[in-house]
Formats: sequence, C-alpha cells, structure tokens
Amino acid sequence: MHEAIAANPWVSLAYLISGVLFILALRGLSSPASSRRGNNFGIVGMGIAVVTTLLTHFNATIVEIVIAIAIGAGIGLVTARKIAMTAMPQLVAAFHSLVGLAAVLVAAAAYLNPQAFGIADAAGQILAVSRIEMGLGVAIGAITFSGSVIAFLKLNGNMSGKPITLPARHVINLGTLAAILGLIAYFLTDQSPWVFWTVTALSFLIGFLLIIPIGGADMPVVVSMLNSYSGWAAAAMGFTLHNTAMIITGALVGSSGAILSYIMCRAMNRSFISVIAGGFGGDSAGGAAAAATDRPWKRGSSEDAAFLMSQAEQVIIVPGYGMAVAQAQHALREMGDKLKEHGVTVKYAIHPVAGRMPGHMNVLLAEANVPYDDVFELEDINSEFARSDVAFVIGANDVTNPAAKTDKSSPIYGMPILDVEKAKTVLFVKRSMGGVGYAGVDNDVFYRDNTMMLLADAKKMVEEIVKSLD
Ligand code: NDP
Repeated sequence: MHEAIAANPWVSLAYLISGVLFILALRGLSSPASSRRGNNFGIVGMGIAVVTTLLTHFNATIVEIVIAIAIGAGIGLVTARKIAMTAMPQLVAAFHSLVGLAAVLVAAAAYLNPQAFGIADAAGQILAVSRIEMGLGVAIGAITFSGSVIAFLKLNGNMSGKPITLPARHVINLGTLAAILGLIAYFLTDQSPWVFWTVTALSFLIGFLLIIPIGGADMPVVVSMLNSYSGWAAAAMGFTLHNTAMIITGALVGSSGAILSYIMCRAMNRSFISVIAGGFGGDSAGGAAAAATDRPWKRGSSEDAAFLMSQAEQVIIVPGYGMAVAQAQHALREMGDKLKEHGVTVKYAIHPVAGRMPGHMNVLLAEANVPYDDVFELEDINSEFARSDVAFVIGANDVTNPAAKTDKSSPIYGMPILDVEKAKTVLFVKRSMGGVGYAGVDNDVFYRDNTMMLLADAKKMVEEIVKSLD
C-alpha cells in the first residue's frame, strides 16, 4: 500500500505544494513585517499535507481519526489560550519532547510489525535501508525526548538551572554515542530485540546526559538545538512511514533549527561543536555571588527618570525578561512616543538571548507596534551607548552584565553583552535589589556612580514615567 501511495502522482504533487508552502512560510518568518503572511503559508501547507494524508491512508476509520484530531486539537487550543508568553520556552520544549516520543513510537511500531509498514521482505526480515532509518529515527527521537524533558524542567523551574556536571562526562557522552552508532550498524546484520531496545535505552540516556550540564546563559542554544533534533526525528519518521511531506517538513525544521543554533552560538561566543557534544560552559557552576544588597546604590523615582530622559538627546531602551513578565511593552511604546514628542531620539537594543526564547523581545515590541526601524541588534547598536545620554534597562539583567567580559568563573563568561554602562546615565527597572536574572548572578552595573535603580514592577514604573512626561 505504501509504495502505491508514494507512487500516486497526485499525492506527490500535493506534498510538493505543501513543501513549497513550508519554504515560503520560513521565508516569511525571517522578518517581523512578513511573519503573518509566512504563518498563513504554513497553515495552508499543513492543511494540504494533513488532508492528503487522511485521504490516502486507510489504516483507521474516519471516526477514529476525527476523535484523535479532536483530542489533540482540543488540548492544543486550551494550552495556546492559557499559556503565558513568558512560559512559551518551556511549552516549546514540551512540544519538542512529544515529537521525539512520536518518532520513538513510530519506530517501535514499525519494528514490531514491519509488514504493516511495508518494510519487510518475503521472509519477514526488515529491509536493510529501513533498519538504518529505524535505528537513526529511534535514536534521534529518544535523544530529543529526554533532552527536551530536562530542558522543560529547567526552564519551568522544576529543576535547578545550574549545570549538573558528572566527572569525565565527555568520555561518558562520547562512549555512549559511539555505542549507539555501533549498535545501529550491528542492527543491519542482526534485528534481535535486544539491539533495538538497547539503542532506544542508550539514546534516552544520552539525551539526558547532554542537557543536564547546560546552565546559565547557554539554555537558549539548547532550545534551538532541540528544535533542530525534533525536525530530524520527524524526517526519520517520514522515511519509516513513506511520507514525503514529513520528510520535507522534518528536514526544513532540522536544518533551520541547526542554522538558528549556529547563529546563536556565534552571538553567544560558544563553539557549535561543543554544543552538539553537550556540557559546554558547564565548568563554571559557581559564578559570581548572587545579588549582594550591602553595596551602596542609588534609587530614583519615576519623576527623576522622566526628567532625565526628556532632557536627553538619545535614549536607548534595553528590554529583557522582566518586561515580558510585566507585559510592559505597550506602556513602553507609549513612553517612547512621548519622548519622541520631546525631541528625543529613541532606539531599542535587542540582545540575541534577551528574554526566554529566541526573538522574544522582537515579538513583544512588534505586538506593541514599535516601529521596526527603531529596533537594533546588539552588533548594530553597541557602539552607540557611549554616545547616548540614557540607557533605559527594563527587566533585563544578564544581557547587560559586564562580568561576562571580565569574570572567568561567571556562568555567562564569554557572552557578548550590551554595553549599557557606557551611557551617561543608566536607569535600571527591576522589582528589588535581591532579584537576579536567569544566570543567578549579581550585576556590577547596579552599583556604578552613573546608575539609578528604579525599583518597581516594569509596567507600573513605565506608566508612572509616562504620567510624569505629560
Ligand atoms: P534576566 O533573566 O537576566 O533578568 C530579568 C530581570 O527582570 C531581573 O533583573 C528581574 O529582577 C527583572 N524582573 C522580573 N520580573 C520583573 C517585573 N515584573 N518588573 C520588573 N522587573 C522584573 O533577563 P535578560 O533578558 O537580561 O537575560 C535573559 C537570560 O535568560 C539570559 O541569561 C539568557 O541566557 C537566558 N535564557 C534565554 C533564552 C532565550 O532564548 N532568549 C532561553 C533560556 C534562557 P527582579 O526579580 O528584581 O524584578
């Protein structure tokens, strides 16, 4: 049956069209201005792929299919409506884990009943090429599953974000990976259950081992790496199920995730190879001490902030995770507009890992209709802090911490940062001096002479500044 489906030219054409729409979707998503259009291409492409698959695969009754879709879509709908924007990263990690688990289950089903999948020869032996696809599919799927579960627990705060480092972890990781690859090769000659299930068990283990040593500022790269793995797991499933659309989609997600990881590694000053090998940045478990409130610091009010900024020629706004928590983006845009009315040049500086997911700040600022032309990436704006009167840091911490440049023991050491301390005045909005950022380290800029702390919820503080500007 599978060969017949694969050979049907109408099916191939439908899958080809959905593949082209997915590529257009990715292209659209590369810029905030075209992202809605990109999303629509993706929805139509996925619709075509799902309908084609439903019309051509007869393994379940229509009632069973509708029930399955209703359950899945219902859970998805409720989750999407309920989820807070700040919890998006852990949601993404949870979804990745489901893709990984699905790949493992498909591979296991195909292994247990190869005839039903059309991958057995007359003697009931699994075809050689299918053994390779199945071995790689189950391995990538299991790694994606256990790795994503750990990422979820860390991002959701159920597990400490600090790196957990085993002695000789690189030797253990490389040994386990070599054993998995060796067993997949051996699977070609012997399809005994112990080979298949040992590959599965070792792959679950290596996914766990690769992610537990990741901590501090390195989690963003892991999130995008797991995104890539989930794509390859889906592509492997596509081979087992003889489904071209799944192979195309999986390859697109896998390669775009890999490109994103590479870009993030470069932005974070991390080596791509060591990310794949796991446990990068893990030796600096301790880092600088957590927030120390006994050092002298200056507190300011919303009136002080409004006065300083209205007198400025240029203000650079640096949003971070706290802005997302407080949902302060709309008030912030209003503040920017008011400052412009006072003749101030307003720019927004986005660090590549600000917030808790790639592009987090760009999405929020776009939602509040901040003009794209006012938003700048780190490398395009960093030199401008020295020429600016005010750096207005709202809910950001790690991405401004100079310890990343000077303190080798810091978990964020090596990460490029926004040089806010070079501005004439730095205004820091956060709720308390005790609160730390994701990496859990104190920030020396809080105690500098040119810094004024604005301690309050980000949204409340910005609303008060707007009132004072009036
Ligand atoms: P941080 O996590 O470093 O700092 C957040 C700051 O916001 C804290 O100072 C906190 O202080 C403050 N804050 C929290 N809630 C509020 C609120 N309601 N109002 C005002 N302030 C608030 O954020 P950054 O964006 O600077 O850095 C991102 C960090 O997250 C990096 O370490 C990055 O590696 C990591 N990360 C990034 C991911 C990504 O893909 N972008 C994914 C996973 C991790 P206080 O509690 O005192 O208010």
